[in-house]
Amino acid sequence: MDQIEQEPDFIALSRQFKATAMELISVLEQKQKTGGRTKVLLETVPVHKLADIFVASFEISFEEQLSMLDSVDVKVRLSKATELVDRHLQSIRVAEKITQKVEGQLSKSQKEFLLRQQMRAIKEELGDNDDEEDDVAVLERKMQDASMPVNIWKHAQRELRRLKKMQPQQPGYNSSRVYLELLADLPWQKASEERELDLKVAKECLDIEHYGLEKVKQRIIEYLAVRKLKPDARGPVLCFVGPPGVGKTSLASSIAAALGRKFVRISLGGVKDEADIRGHRRTYIGSMPGRLIDGLKRVGVCNPVMLLDEIDKTGSDVRGDPASALLEVLDSEQNKTFNDHYLHVPFDLSKVVFVATANRIQPIPPPLLDRMEVIELPGYTPEEKLRIAMQHLVPRVLDQHGLSFDFLQFPEAMVQLVIQRYTREAGVRNLERNLAALARAAAVRVAEQDHSVPLSKDVQRLASPLLDGRLAGEAEVEMEVIPMGVNKHEISNTFRVTSPFIVDEAMLEKVLGPPRYDDRETADRVATPGVSVGLVWTAFGGEVQFVEATAMVGKGDLHLTGQLGDVIKESAQIAMTWVRARATELKLVNAEESNILEGRDIHIHFPAGAVPKDGPSAGVTLVTSLVSLFSHRRVRADTAMTGEMTLRGLVLPVGGVKDKVLAAHRYGIKRVILPERNLKDLAEVPAAVLSGLEILLAKRMEDVLDHAFEGGCPLKKYSKL
Ligand code: ADP
Repeated sequence: MDQIEQEPDFIALSRQFKATAMELISVLEQKQKTGGRTKVLLETVPVHKLADIFVASFEISFEEQLSMLDSVDVKVRLSKATELVDRHLQSIRVAEKITQKVEGQLSKSQKEFLLRQQMRAIKEELGDNDDEEDDVAVLERKMQDASMPVNIWKHAQRELRRLKKMQPQQPGYNSSRVYLELLADLPWQKASEERELDLKVAKECLDIEHYGLEKVKQRIIEYLAVRKLKPDARGPVLCFVGPPGVGKTSLASSIAAALGRKFVRISLGGVKDEADIRGHRRTYIGSMPGRLIDGLKRVGVCNPVMLLDEIDKTGSDVRGDPASALLEVLDSEQNKTFNDHYLHVPFDLSKVVFVATANRIQPIPPPLLDRMEVIELPGYTPEEKLRIAMQHLVPRVLDQHGLSFDFLQFPEAMVQLVIQRYTREAGVRNLERNLAALARAAAVRVAEQDHSVPLSKDVQRLASPLLDGRLAGEAEVEMEVIPMGVNKHEISNTFRVTSPFIVDEAMLEKVLGPPRYDDRETADRVATPGVSVGLVWTAFGGEVQFVEATAMVGKGDLHLTGQLGDVIKESAQIAMTWVRARATELKLVNAEESNILEGRDIHIHFPAGAVPKDGPSAGVTLVTSLVSLFSHRRVRADTAMTGEMTLRGLVLPVGGVKDKVLAAHRYGIKRVILPERNLKDLAEVPAAVLSGLEILLAKRMEDVLDHAFEGGCPLKKYSKL
């Protein structure tokens, strides 16, 4: 032994063994707080014996014990012992780590459990019984009452069973519950009772709520008549098309009233995502049902009148095409099993009466348009607006502001002034807004005046002794008793204003500001040569559009501004070419000077510069403004025009004639130049408007020019070109 102890190998081995053993002992010491004796052993006992003692105390396999006994060489035994001690040390460490982890988890769930117990105790103490379990029971009852079809009931049951197995804190619990709530809330069978449809009553109902619109009302009555004869008839979906504020929405709600059904409006403006119609699949976080299902949930019956508002404002992009989803909705064959992605079970939409509204027909995809019957509402003449205002808007506005005719009166002449000076729209929405502004101003004055209104005699008699008493500082008055004789009616009388306000011109200016429009506008704008008045068609109905042309030194270029589209730009080029080709005949240039553009550029501008414009119907207006510019003659201020022009000078018919003529009438224009082939469209224009206008028909551009200038156009005979 003495010899071996001197060997460097042995010294190294024993040092390693001691270090490992020391480590093991300190770990054990930490765990069991005993180890003092073993530490002493480590210092006193020779290393080779120590190895034997350690190994003997471990639980090792039979083979390992054998191999230990088998190693007679001290060094070999020492190295084997070191290995064993190290293994033991590692296993203790791993075990320790695991226990730490488990302990952490345990304490967290224990904490939660404890808190939950406390919460329950607090709730019980407060008498708050909305326990999760109760909630589920309520939900189940609601589902039973929802009278779902059998297959859907089975599906809902499956989902409910899943929900019952889940813990409220578990992810997915909430979404599952919200889903089941929707299933329970949807009107699977619940329908509002349809009363026997009386067409006379329906007609009265439409007449009471809407002035004029005879043709539209007639069409609605026809629609209702068919429904009466064949309740399950799958007639086309009505689609009201017209500028804002012409009564599309309120007509739809009148249909609902006539049918005795509930009314729900679904706004489709700006819907670009198919999921807005059809819903998101439930796998997405925050998924929702589509707007239709949501609307049905809101309205609570399966047979409402559903208004698909602004159906022309849906667009398609990468997220799908809402129009194709709408196709399914409006198709009576397919909508029996409408499939909402969120709902995941088919819903029967066939009992819903769909009505749609749109500002324009063009943006509606043709297949969708094919399923609808378009009813156009062109906009109102000032006379119609006046009647609507006097019969419908004024009473409604007064009512909305808590006023009556006793407080405020709108003379007809003043309403007419509001129409002429402050609104220039096809519908009546701005008019209603302006009337509301006047009513608000009057309401302030009435409310202010309340204090100065003399009290009725009874109340004076009652008030005076009390008041006198107070003033004299007598005994305290605890309660003011109003005698039985002074009933409510008399009290309200005490607030009566002695004389009602009558809206006058001064009030108009004060509340609505200086007049926004006047009939002189066109005259002012066409005061210089180069400006002509066109009629265009926009989503807000017809509009008057000025075209300005000017010339400056240049190289013969044509500049166009005013946010123009390709079609209108081409129209400008055609106009320029036509004028250049006939410059001599039109006496725009001397015979020797053949090029009208010699040394000059032409700039054509369409105000308002911020509004995008396109379409071919400005052709004749462009030519007129160019001829006016080159001939230095002013265009007649009382004349507006519309029409597409071919390169050869033929005037082609255009769309939206009715709206355009109404717009001209609104602007106070007296003469309108129209393409000859649009004559048939005039049948739709109200006679009252036509009687105030001189309609001039044009077959060729020369006719237009002849009508547009005072004293006609020099180009009498038609060009040979
Ligand atoms: P739209 O849906 O066409 O934009 P609304 O139906 O909302 O227009 O109508 C705007 C307002 O004008 C409503 O208060 C409506 O009652 C009123 N209105 C429109 N046309 C008429 C009419 N012919 N008679 C009575 N009120 C009308």
